[in-house]
Amino acid sequence: MNLPRAIEKTKNHALASLFIVFVVGLAFVRLTLNGLPPVPAPAPGRPDLARLEAHVRALASEPHPIGSEAHERTRRYILAELEAAGVEPVEQNSSAIGPISPGLTRAGRVRNVIARVPGNPGTDAILLAAHYDSVPAGPGASDDASSVAGLLEAVRLLKAGARPRNDVVFLFSDAEEIGMVGAQAFADESPLMEKIRAVFNFEARGTTGPVLLFETGQDSADLVRAFLAADPHPQGTSLATTVYQYLPNNTDFTVFKDRGLPGLNFACIGDLPAYHTRLDNPNRLDPRTLMLQAEHAWTCARTFGNSYLMRPSGREEIVFFPALGTFHVSYSQAPALVLAAAAILLLGLAFFFGIRAGLISIGKIIAGGGAVLLLAAAAGGLA
Ligand SMILES: [Zn+2]
Repeated sequence: MNLPRAIEKTKNHALASLFIVFVVGLAFVRLTLNGLPPVPAPAPGRPDLARLEAHVRALASEPHPIGSEAHERTRRYILAELEAAGVEPVEQNSSAIGPISPGLTRAGRVRNVIARVPGNPGTDAILLAAHYDSVPAGPGASDDASSVAGLLEAVRLLKAGARPRNDVVFLFSDAEEIGMVGAQAFADESPLMEKIRAVFNFEARGTTGPVLLFETGQDSADLVRAFLAADPHPQGTSLATTVYQYLPNNTDFTVFKDRGLPGLNFACIGDLPAYHTRLDNPNRLDPRTLMLQAEHAWTCARTFGNSYLMRPSGREEIVFFPALGTFHVSYSQAPALVLAAAAILLLGLAFFFGIRAGLISIGKIIAGGGAVLLLAAAAGGLA
């Protein structure tokens, strides 16, 4: 064996291993030890945790599915809070059929609560939405009282500040849990729909973790860029949008996305076992997650309530992701394709020169790939 060459090879292996350990370690530290930003001290012009928690306790002390007395109380609470904030809420009573999936039709009598903070005459409108019903199995502190609380805070802050440029419409939708029937009724019947240029929906699937931007509507590249720039703690990746579109899951956002509206959809997904159970209660809801819901809602209300919402030019898809968990990188699809092609080319070159120099072998590459597949299957089986 050639000793200098063996030393060189070991050195390369060590460097590569160190680099992998460094990147994985950094991501691990970022995700586990420091995953959620601490709740900021109360400040004027920002969501207030004490108010948010009071809302959640009032909204989600017990299950409030459509048709229950608790559901009535929840709606009355939202109406009273909106009036206290100085807006005139409107109730939309309707019978509607939710989006039809193969073999399944969902219908119901729904009572949406709608509030509008008017902008300047002749401008556009944006919609912020969260559902106020829960499943029968649990009180829905996170799903979706945390989002309703965030919207109530956004209404209060918006009313306390200067008049926005655009109308900001708040939809507290009914009957999401039985199949987005309330959102469907709003989209079909509300005269406000005509003016709405963008939709921001807030959801929960668990009681903790970051509130992720996990789905985007049509032509939403500008919205993504503006949100990432304006929000104090944005988190999300376009990979989630790509994966999500192949999953059978839906939220109210689906109703608006299907109508071709641009928009952003947010949800937390930590502590999934609590989702749709009695564990989704106010005590278990992470205050940091509750704060993030409100921060995102407030960012969307003030940013897009005050921006020009002319139709974005063309069908531009955007790629975005957090880099090392610290900041977000975003670019449009054209450079993404160039980067993907460059990555394939570089990989091909690495293989070519590696094989020629005897550093890597095709057999070992296949074995390595097989090991990864085997590990994934084993992890799935164990889970
Ligand atoms: Zn929900």
